[in-house]
Amino acid sequence: MHITAKEEYFDEPACEHNGVAKDKKACKTATPGSSTGGCALDGAYIVLSPIKDALNIVHAPINCLGNSYNQRTSETTQRENYYMYGFTTAINENDLIFGSEDKLRQGVIYVFNRFKPKAVFIYNTCVPALTGEDIEGVSKELAAKLKIPVVPVFSQGFSGNKNLGNKIAGDALFTHIIGRKEPEIDLLSDYNINLIGEYNIRGELFLIKKALKQAGINVLSTITGDSTIEEIMYSHKAGLNVVVCSKALIYLARKMKEKYGLPYIEGSFFGLTSTNKAIMDIVNSIGDYELTCSAKKYIKIRTRNTEENIYEYKRFLTGKKALLYTGGVKSWSLVSALNDLGMKVIATGVKKSTEEDKLRIKEIDGNGNIIMLDNGNPVNLIKIAREEQVDIILAGGRNQYTAIKSLIPFLDVNQERFNPYTSYEGMEFLAKQIYFEIKNPLFKLLKESNINL
Ligand code: SF4
Repeated sequence: MHITAKEEYFDEPACEHNGVAKDKKACKTATPGSSTGGCALDGAYIVLSPIKDALNIVHAPINCLGNSYNQRTSETTQRENYYMYGFTTAINENDLIFGSEDKLRQGVIYVFNRFKPKAVFIYNTCVPALTGEDIEGVSKELAAKLKIPVVPVFSQGFSGNKNLGNKIAGDALFTHIIGRKEPEIDLLSDYNINLIGEYNIRGELFLIKKALKQAGINVLSTITGDSTIEEIMYSHKAGLNVVVCSKALIYLARKMKEKYGLPYIEGSFFGLTSTNKAIMDIVNSIGDYELTCSAKKYIKIRTRNTEENIYEYKRFLTGKKALLYTGGVKSWSLVSALNDLGMKVIATGVKKSTEEDKLRIKEIDGNGNIIMLDNGNPVNLIKIAREEQVDIILAGGRNQYTAIKSLIPFLDVNQERFNPYTSYEGMEFLAKQIYFEIKNPLFKLLKESNINL
């Protein structure tokens, strides 16, 4: 039983959070009584639930599933979207006393018969971890019986935060799924990559894949947006891993490098500059002269088209001020996207950013005036927004009412966002949405009529 998280999760050599200060580890251990920002279960569920032909069973009292179910909008090409189902064993008082391993067995067999998934992930949570249920034993027994991978995910929330959960999920894929199959020959091209940490929010993966395909690059597997268990099984046969937007899955990329010799790079597809750079970084890593030439040509054409399509929006947005409060890679890649639109980013949230992310923000913000916000509480955000007279706040859903009640236009750029913002088409969506939010006459009317929300 693994009810304590592995030490290596907290000591990731490939993560810049690690070792920046004495005692500072790559992932925080949990603080008792505090699970704000999501627990390990939440993080693991985010990573594994977009796999379209696998099912996820949360072995827990009913409320744990509510914590993680349907928080994102991972789109899929599959007709029946398993992502919209939430399964839990709903442990109750009786189960606590008499044990719930049998309930779990029956639950897995039920979903297998009903949905015929290609794999089942069983999430351990605080309560069964503390009562000592043998999730690993049940998983092994069911895998042998059902002839599909039944994977235990040791994501009990007391082990750590959401980032830790991402790693635990990556480890589950690495241990139980990756390397279990070889790809058919017609799935391979000369230049095969995997995208790691791309969850296809609002179809963003579709836009990235389209651009990469047109640039001559084949996405063999995505971990895990719109993916299948089979494609993750043969992902070790790609030539390069590209870690997109999820620092925690660097862990998985490093493990795949160690075991399969698969190199990895990081890349972001938010904004024109970042998308172009990500494509060039990929082709440079592949190192093929012909591919480099065709990718350069493609980038030139797509950049020109996109510039033309956003011309009117950009004319309006140039010089407008934005306050950005989001996490990780988006803290710098969206600064770059907003700069591409001629906007001035007054402040960006860096609470979840690494030291490297912060360096990138400084590089992108040429004049060095950007405020790095460690504290994103509403009072602080509004204070800065008012002092700096920002035209729009871009942040996550929990800041929406803070902004709107202060009569400041708002755009959701976190996981609950309503539009895809990656790649070239995503840039057009972003320009259009910011334009419409700022142009929304409601704020002006409310200000004029002195209405307090
Ligand atoms: S796994 Fe633990 S911390 Fe997470 S929601 Fe369940 S009880 Fe809460």
